[in-house]
Amino acid sequence: MKTDVLVVGGGLAGTSAALFLAWHGVRVTLVEKHPGSSPHPRAVGFTARTGEMLRAAGIEDELPPSRMAKGFGIRRVRVESLAGKRFEETFWSPPAEQSPNGRTQAGGAQVEYSPSTGIGVAQDRMEPLLRDKARELGADIRMSTRMLEFSQDDAGVTAVVRGDGEPYEIRADYLVAADGHRSPVREALGITRGGRGYLHTSRSVLFRAPLDEYLRDGIGQFIVDGVGFLTTYGDGRWVLMLDDREYSEPELRQQIFRAIGRDDLDVEIITTGRWTISAAVADRFSRGRVFLAGDAAHTLPPSRGGFGANVGIEDAHNLAWKLAAVLNGESRPSLLDTYDAERRPVALLCHQQIFARDDGHNRDGEREDAPLLDNDAMHFGILYRSDAVLGAGPELPAAQRPEQWNGQPGTRAPHVWLAPGKSTLDLFGRGWVLVADHPQWEEASAELGIRCERLERLEPFGLSAKGASLVRPDGYIAWRAEDLPDDPADALKTAFRRSSAGTR
Ligand SMILES: Cc1cc2nc3c(=O)[nH]c(=O)nc-3n(C[C@H](O)[C@H](O)[C@H](O)COP(=O)(O)OP(=O)(O)OC[C@H]3O[C@@H](n4cnc5c(N)ncnc54)[C@H](O)[C@@H]3O)c2cc1C
Repeated sequence: MKTDVLVVGGGLAGTSAALFLAWHGVRVTLVEKHPGSSPHPRAVGFTARTGEMLRAAGIEDELPPSRMAKGFGIRRVRVESLAGKRFEETFWSPPAEQSPNGRTQAGGAQVEYSPSTGIGVAQDRMEPLLRDKARELGADIRMSTRMLEFSQDDAGVTAVVRGDGEPYEIRADYLVAADGHRSPVREALGITRGGRGYLHTSRSVLFRAPLDEYLRDGIGQFIVDGVGFLTTYGDGRWVLMLDDREYSEPELRQQIFRAIGRDDLDVEIITTGRWTISAAVADRFSRGRVFLAGDAAHTLPPSRGGFGANVGIEDAHNLAWKLAAVLNGESRPSLLDTYDAERRPVALLCHQQIFARDDGHNRDGEREDAPLLDNDAMHFGILYRSDAVLGAGPELPAAQRPEQWNGQPGTRAPHVWLAPGKSTLDLFGRGWVLVADHPQWEEASAELGIRCERLERLEPFGLSAKGASLVRPDGYIAWRAEDLPDDPADALKTAFRRSSAGTR
């Protein structure tokens, strides 16, 4: 069979890739060897940036907002037990005073960065929602189907897959390898990885217990002295992470009761897990027609920042519009080189920030000596430097808060409410958009077939009333003219051709 893009792996990264590709009208087939999601969820915390991407794809409303108060990040405290004494609070996002760019501006005003709140839903609930939406948009999702081998040539990729019956071939223009941290595809391509590598192994027990009364103060993560790490999926299910030892069921119950500090509650053990926690970033994110996404590209420990799944979903979002543009002939294949140029530095920055932060356990070796960046910078203020961005030089920092960027090309376009419930971000997501208010820009964009959105307030984009910003289909600013040039049509055409590797 023939498809445009074959995605291998139906975890959060692969399913998001199928969703975003289908959203852009690409024919996509996904194969996942398991029949469904693992009954033991891993991720539960999804950032507001992830919320924004899912908002654009029309599913944010179906997802429960994060339990944690917006803006306060995820709070964690060391305790004697859940019911016992509480000691110091540790932060996986640095509190404002530790950060070089705290979130309260001079004068005490708070800045709102996003129309989305974080999402608080367990991975085993999130994956089916993404899968259903991807199917609804036309993605061909084949569960219980394993890719056995693949090869690539100048014109495409051929994979051999097996579902219930005999193996068969799938021919695709491109392959997205979202096959997890062990990534057989990455290994077959001979792509090496850097980073700290193996950190530790943890056992976990997933259980259900009526413990909501201990969540009232907004703290959801507990480092229990002498036991381990306890947190909740926010739906009555809790997970206790322990050291790497075999535990019998009575021993697990005993550990759970020690962690709670009570043994008079009904506790249902659902399942157990064993997790290898490691930190590794691939030395390249693509080879030929194959692109790595999610944990296949970067395995990031969950303990300080919850970057793992969120960064994987962003990979998929970054790659999807580029593949769509190349497949529909709007851009030359060189646009695809910007995937590695944009996403690998993000993974490396997350790796650095994870080890610059305090994990509350201090068990993962030397602390990284790097300035701490707060979550607002990490979620909304990452800078892309690539050929798909004009004017983002090496002198600029890797990330800072949106108002510090002030519409800098290479950063996500800023959020401003245009009307109740309608954000500037709702203007972006499918094609290219020119943000401007001067009629000459409107004419120039019409000539190129680019949608022009006329906004009265252009200051958040760092523009004068006569300026313009060119925004990519992923909501990132590709180029801007702070004022009106002599020949706006020519300036826009040159910028569009260069940043989109465009054929128009
Ligand atoms: C305990 C724990 C808690 C975490 N909490 C968070 C959190 O709160 N927030 C966060 O952002 N991240 C968190 N993470 C990290 C997050 O879970 C991972 O980054 C994320 O799930 C990776 O998704 P993925 O799709 O890249 O890979 P995976 O989920 O590993 O999916 C890869 C898929 O590929 C399939 N596959 C592999 N080979 C083949 C093949 N040949 N054919 C077909 N299918 C194949 C596998 O079956 C698998 O389903 C946590 C991780 C752990 C361990």
